[in-house]
This record gives sequence, C-alpha cells and structure tokens, in this order.
Amino acid sequence: MSGIYIHIPFCKQACHYCDFHFSTSLKMKKQLLEALEKELLLRKSEFKGLVVGSVYLGGGTPSLLSHRDINSLLEKVSLYYELSPKAEITLEANPDDLSEAYVKELSETLVNRISLGVQSFNPKALKFMNRAHNNLQAKQSMDWVSQYFSNYSIDLIYGIPENSGLQPDVKEGVSEVWQSDIDTALSYSPKHISCYALTVEPKTALFHQINSGKIMPLSEQKAAEEYDYLKNSLKRAGYTHYEFSNFSLPGYAAVNNSGYWQGMSYIGIGPSAHSYNGKERSWNISNNTKYIQSLSENNLPSTRETLSIGARYNEFVMTNLRTSKGISTEQISTLFGHSFSEYLLKEAQEKIRNGQLLLDKNGVLKAAPQAQFFTDGLAAHLFYID
Ligand code: SF4
Repeated sequence: MSGIYIHIPFCKQACHYCDFHFSTSLKMKKQLLEALEKELLLRKSEFKGLVVGSVYLGGGTPSLLSHRDINSLLEKVSLYYELSPKAEITLEANPDDLSEAYVKELSETLVNRISLGVQSFNPKALKFMNRAHNNLQAKQSMDWVSQYFSNYSIDLIYGIPENSGLQPDVKEGVSEVWQSDIDTALSYSPKHISCYALTVEPKTALFHQINSGKIMPLSEQKAAEEYDYLKNSLKRAGYTHYEFSNFSLPGYAAVNNSGYWQGMSYIGIGPSAHSYNGKERSWNISNNTKYIQSLSENNLPSTRETLSIGARYNEFVMTNLRTSKGISTEQISTLFGHSFSEYLLKEAQEKIRNGQLLLDKNGVLKAAPQAQFFTDGLAAHLFYID
C-alpha cells in the first residue's frame, strides 16, 4: 500500500503557533494548482505497480479550494495512479471555510473523510491561537460535517500556556477549557480524534510572545496532566489510543497515519511536501513561486537524500514507540539486523529498570502508560548515533 499527500500552501491568516509552509495570498492559486497537477503527472512512474490506499489533502488549508479544484486534483490522481476503490481520501478543512452547501459539494467529490481543524471550542482559546474561526463556527461545522460524512476526524490542541487566562490558577488540575473541549468533541462521536500539544516553534508569533516574557509556557508537568486526562476520557468513551496523538473508534484508525508509521511509500506533492520510498527521502522547495516556476519547466523542485541504516532504524524506533503496538525487537532484527535489536535492548535497559519502558514476553517494547507523554524523549534515548 502506498499514499499520496498533496500540500495546499494557502491560509487565510497565520495561526500564532504554526510553522508550516503557507502563503496568506491566494494570487497564485491557479498557477499553483496547475503545478500540483504537473507534479502528479511527472512522478507517476515512481508508483508504477503500487496501489494507492490513501490520499491526503493537507496544508495549509485545502478547504480554501473549491470543490471543482478538488475534483480536478483527484481526477488527476485517479488518472495517473492506481487508486484503490477503497482508498481513504481525506481533506483537511477549517471551520470558517465551511457552509452547508460546500460540505455537501465536498461529499459529492471523491473525498470520503474530513479532518476538521477545530483545535478548541472555546472563544478565548481560539483567539489566543489566532485561529480564523470562532466557537460558533467550530460547532456549526461539526454539525454539517457529521451530517454529510460518516467518517471524519477532528483536531484539538492542549497545553495552552500559563497566564493566557485559560489555565486554572491552582497548581494542580486540568483547565476547564480542556475538559470542556473534550466533552464537546465527544458529544459529536467523531470516528477519529487527533490531539496535539501546543508546541513553541521558532519564528512563530507564539515564540516571540514567550521570548519577550509576555506569555509563560505551560509546564511539562501540567501538559502531561492534560494529556493523561485526555487519554482517560477518550478511553472511557470507547476510543482506541492507537498512536501518541491519535484516537479512533474501532475500525477507524487513519489509513494515512498508520501507513506512515508502517513505513509505507508515499509521494508528497506541492511546496514543502516530503516523500519517502523506504530508502530515500525527498522534500520539495518551500516556496510557492519557485515551485511553480520549476514545474512550468518540467523540473521537480526537490532535494533527495538516501537514508543510512542508522537513520532508518531511528525513524522506525521513533514512529513505532509512539504507536500502541510498540517496537518489535523481532521486526528490528528482520529489517536492520540482529546487532540493531541487541543495541535497542541494551539502550533500553535503564528505562526498563526505572519503569518508563515495558518489555513484554514477545520482545515488544512500549512506553509505560505513566511515561507516554514523554515518548519522544524515550525514543531519542534509543537512537543509534553513527
Ligand atoms: S490554518 Fe493550519 S496551516 Fe494555516 S496557519 Fe493555521 S495551523 Fe498553520
């Protein structure tokens, strides 16, 4: 199985925490869409003989495109690639772009799954993040999407900083905003929920607010409490916690996500998009004008690198430790050789002794429930350094 990711590099406004590639000007939209279609054409030989099981339109903000634009892109995908009839075709959408008519039109395209960027239902939290939608639009969009799509996911953000007016003054406890966001999300019973900690990325407005002392980042301990609260609430509601940030009702784990973690080949189309074929990684230029120019000359604007065995092992360790299935030492031996599974077990010893990692009788290594919030740090501890 393989996947196609298409990056739509436009947004209405910059969210304060975001470091993705996008432009707030839609002047080049037409040329950009032509370039995306050209890239789909030029790269079709990379997927010769492979069946595409997942197409993901992300960004940026794909819901800034009309349903005709989306149809045109997806038609090119099915024309140039072998698209499985059961393929999961996801479109990321922002609540402020949706109307009932538009959601209905989307449901008549090949898109069969919506990933809705709600982030919060709280007006102050949305304002703090500089999201373009308000709380009423968040709820209204959930109503429409749940009416026209049986399969949809919503994104939520936790870990809102201290002194943003949204965290409790008390030292202990999870903010009411976060509790209420989870309750509201669950009231819609979405098939899938993705939750991300608000991270402070360089060159973002949030980074400057924190650097200038205007905002205090939430302590790691409090963010971990919010994460644990989330896990427990969603578990009680019947969701499977299948990956660090992702929860689904039975049978609705995202094909797109699961594919990435299982090391499937994927092609990333569009400015800044990344691709992976099991051995090589490549990434496109993060500049809309240069991307369009290059494709107009039939050149792929990408840089390639061949991953060393150590880099592939590190990627495998990072992605698998984040999943509920954990890291299989047997699979490590098969993929990278016995010396790598020995290395993994040696590096894991200290964390197994202090209870942060668990090793079961089948040789599968997982983060202990109480240490899950720190999974990335635990994975880094197991990395192979050349
Ligand atoms: S809408 Fe999404 S991609 Fe655009 S700025 Fe906000 S978080 Fe970033």
